[in-house]
Amino acid sequence: MEGKNCSSCKRKIVNDKGSVIFKCPQCTDLEIVRCTECRANGVKYHCGCGFVGPN
Ligand SMILES: [Zn+2]
Ligand SMILES: [Zn+2]
Repeated sequence: MEGKNCSSCKRKIVNDKGSVIFKCPQCTDLEIVRCTECRANGVKYHCGCGFVGPN
């Protein structure tokens, strides 16, 4: 997998086993990337469609 950047902190996720990549629940089109740290801290993410999660 190529390097992707966390949608919240923009950190590049490489060898980050706790990271997740999933499709935006609203537009189901754009990919959301979350690193371990942002998941653990519940940091919000913003999709290009305007969706803000996790909520
Ligand atoms: Zn992050
Ligand atoms: Zn979206």
